[in-house]
Formats: sequence, structure tokens, C-alpha cells
Amino acid sequence: MQELFHFINGRAHPAASGRFGDVFNPATGAVQAHVPLADAATLDAAITGAQAAQPGWAATNPQRRARVLMEFARLIDRDMAPLAEALSREHGKTLADARGDIQRGLEVIEFCIGAPHLLKGEYTDSAGPGIDMYSMRQPLGLVAGITPFNFPAMIPMWQFGPALAAGNAFILKPSERAPSVPLMLAALLVESGLPAGVLQVINGDHTIAEALVEHPAIAAVSFVGSTPIAAHVYARAAATGKRAQCFGGAKNHMIIMPDADLDQAADALIGAGYGAAGERCMAVSVAVPVGAATADALITRLIPRIEALKVGPYSAGEDVDFGPVISATAQANIRRLVQSGVDQGAKLVIDGRNFRLQGYEDGFFVGPHLFDHVTPDMEIYRQEIFGPVLSVVRAANYEDALALATDHEYGNGTAIFTRDGDTARDFAARVSVGMVGINVPIPVPLAYHSFGGWKRSVFGDLNQHGPDAFRFNTRTKTVTARWPSGIRSGQEFNFRPLG
Ligand code: NAD
Repeated sequence: MQELFHFINGRAHPAASGRFGDVFNPATGAVQAHVPLADAATLDAAITGAQAAQPGWAATNPQRRARVLMEFARLIDRDMAPLAEALSREHGKTLADARGDIQRGLEVIEFCIGAPHLLKGEYTDSAGPGIDMYSMRQPLGLVAGITPFNFPAMIPMWQFGPALAAGNAFILKPSERAPSVPLMLAALLVESGLPAGVLQVINGDHTIAEALVEHPAIAAVSFVGSTPIAAHVYARAAATGKRAQCFGGAKNHMIIMPDADLDQAADALIGAGYGAAGERCMAVSVAVPVGAATADALITRLIPRIEALKVGPYSAGEDVDFGPVISATAQANIRRLVQSGVDQGAKLVIDGRNFRLQGYEDGFFVGPHLFDHVTPDMEIYRQEIFGPVLSVVRAANYEDALALATDHEYGNGTAIFTRDGDTARDFAARVSVGMVGINVPIPVPLAYHSFGGWKRSVFGDLNQHGPDAFRFNTRTKTVTARWPSGIRSGQEFNFRPLG
């Protein structure tokens, strides 16, 4: 049995607490590794090492810091195959999806190579007589990151890329269900020239995550995970005086207007609804066709496409569409929610509950599901299912469809499929959701824009990556300077304007 470790001060740090978690191969259901669950002494070792390393890293000029990330990007490209393999083995997603996970993280690292430009302050020459004024963007010190299981490469890179480029040290607590790739990334950063201690990885569960959030040496917390925990982490971080950005769950609606290309919309729904077994915060879980004729025509197109989906382990070849879900608990929860949909009166058009794969009977597979006639009071509509379950909510008209996406408590992503520019423009302007696609089902902004939802999909005001990430990871100091030759008056007691 493989025994994992922490990564502290530039090297593997052995387990000390005696507590371990099981890491599964979701395709077989077998335990493939044990991950140590850190105790307070391990957290202290990580914090002490980071505190020692951070001032030197902050004093390294930003271009040299960026060069470390440039080399890191090269090494990720070099190691793409083993990284993707490790990711698929622990998470269950297909190899193509695993490469996408790594690639989307890599793009943020590439963006961070331009950090020197984003770290420039502002300068006003002669703000008053003989007075100059300038602002600096300084690192915060120690930044902590807590990440979910579903993007084990991308989200850690989204968090530590900007934090490191800005001169912080970073302490990552990855998901205990998919810890291997974050450990591999940490080793690659050291190989790239990152000084030991600047990036620490401590493995563990909620106990150590809470201790990290509360730790007085931590200046800021980036969290990505489910909404109840995001809200909790945000409250605890704020109560202990920290800056926090906490991203939560989602229920993403795709509106299909009567004038949409229905084949294109159906194809988009298949990829966005079932890709990665629905375990994406930007997955489309609700399709909202406008008008009964659109709904009927859409369902007719969805059924054969769903029936043709190939579900299997990542090792079964590149034509597998999606793999197992992450755990037996997730599998049971999805089945329970599907049953609640049936009990509450939704029409289960495709039932994937009894999906079995020969040779993988103990794997955490869930077949694809399609519900029709879902209504907003149902549990399957209100809750994030995080599985391969697509719900069709029929809307009578555009205003009703818009209201569904706007009124849902989550507001991460949404999309509209239409040929009408006016409708698309109106939707983008009025919908109460953070990321909007127009004939694009999963509108994940590229690295140089910012990623973030609205409503209960986010707690905090600065988004992930893009310019916001540099605002989050730095604080502004503004200097007002006057040299002795510029001082002409004697004592001054009033607070007068400079100009
Ligand atoms: P999760 O909330 O169960 O766990 C996320 C992380 O929080 C893990 O590292 C976990 O160990 C840690 N954690 C658990 N209890 C904690 C506590 N009390 N205090 C602090 N940390 C704690 O989420 P998950 O199941 O790993 O991931 C799936 C969820 O993440 C979904 O809801 C999904 O929508 C969401 N997600 C959101 C985004 C986004 O950008 N909005 C992106 C990806 C995933």
C-alpha cells in the first residue's frame, strides 16, 4: 500500500500523527493509498518553514520569481502524462479530462509569468508642492489554500500561482480524496527553483483545515469547495482578521430558446451535463427549454445521445465519455437524490441507477440520468447533485426562464442558446449569475479574466485568477514623500490639502 506524505521545506515530510485517510481508486473501489492526516505539530512545522522562507522570496525581484514559474510551466508540459495518469487514477476522470484539468491550471501559471506588470504600483509626480505620491503592492506574507477533490491540479495552481508570483509563501491543504497531484506539483516547483519552504503542502481533513484557517500566522485564505463549508471558512477567516475568498457550489442553468440550433444545444448539454460525471462546479445540471415544442424536440435529441454515452474506467481507452464518481458516499447520495426526484413527481426519462460495469462491480460508477418535468420546489432542483444527472425544467417563456436562473440560490455559471442577439444581450445584462455563456455551455473565463460566481456560490469579493488574484494576494501601501528642499513652511497643525 502506498503511503503518502506532506511536503514541507522542499521535501517529503513523513506522517507523524498516526492518523491516516484512505485514498481510493474510484474505478475499482479499492484503497490504493493512505494519506496522512496532519496534526498541529505538522502544521506548525509548515508555518515555521514558510515564515523563514517568505521574506527572502518577497525580496527576490518579481521577474526572477516569474522565471521560476516559467520553468515550472515547462516541467508540467514535460510531466503531463504521469500527472494526468495519477490524477485519473485518484479522481476517476478520463485522461483527456485530466489533461484539461492540468492545462487549465497551467494557463494560470502562464498568466502569472506576467506578474511583474500586474504588481506595478501607481505614481503621481508633484501631488503637492515638492511632493510625490506612490503606491506599492506588497505581498501579504503567508497565504493558505484549501481545495476540493474535483480539480486536483487546476485549483491548487489557480491559488498558488498568483500567491507565489506576488511574493507570498503558500500553505496548501488539498482534498484528502485526491492528494497525489498536489504533492507532485510541489516537487516540480522545487525542481523549478522555488526556494524550500515557500510552498508547503499539508494533507489532512477538516481538523487541520480549520486549524489552518484559524492560525494567527496566516494572512489570507483561498477556499474552494461546497457552499456550507465555504460559508463557514469565510466566517472563521473574517472573525480572525484574515482576507478570504471562498468559492462554493453551483446549480448551472442552460436556457434553450425556440430559435436555438437544437442539435448544437443537445450536444452542448451532453458534454456540459455528463462530462467528468457531472463533478464540475461549472457543469450544466438544469436545462431550461422555452416552450413545450422546444422541450419535446430537445428531449427527443437528448435521449439517443445519452444512451450512446460510454461510461468506464479511464484505462479503457480514449473513447470513454466519463468515469466513476469520487466515492461510495457520493454514489449513494446521487442515488438518494434521484429517488427523491422520482418520489416528488419528476419524470425519470433515463435511469442510470442500476448501471453496472463488468469487472468493475465495486467501482463508484453512476450511469447517466435524465429527468423531465422538474419543478423548482423539488430537492433535485434546489440541491447540487454533483453527478451525471440532468434535470429539464420547462419554462413557458423567456422571462420565466430568466427568473429560474436568477432566483436560484446558487449563481456560478449559466448559458443561453439562441440565434437572437437581443435576447442574448438582455440575458447577459439581467441574469443574476457570475459567469454567462452565449451559445457556450461552460463559460469558464480564461486565465487573464477572473473566475467567480454570485450569490451563495461565493463568499468574498475578489475572484480567482485574472487581475483580481493579484489584488487578493497583495496589499496596497501608499507613500507620500517630500524631500527636505521641498519643505518651506514651519510647523503645521492643520490637515490641509496638498494642492
Ligand atoms: P468539500 O467542501 O467537501 O471539501 C473541500 C475542502 O474543504 C477539502 O479540502 C476538505 O478537506 C476541506 N474541509 C472540509 N471540512 C472543512 C472545514 N470544516 N473547514 C475547512 N475546510 C474543510 O468539497 P468537495 O466535495 O471536495 O468538492 C466539491 C464541491 O466544490 C462542490 O460543491 C463544487 O461545486 C465545489 N467547487 C466549486 C468551485 C468554484 O470555483 N466555485 C470549483 C470546484 C468545486
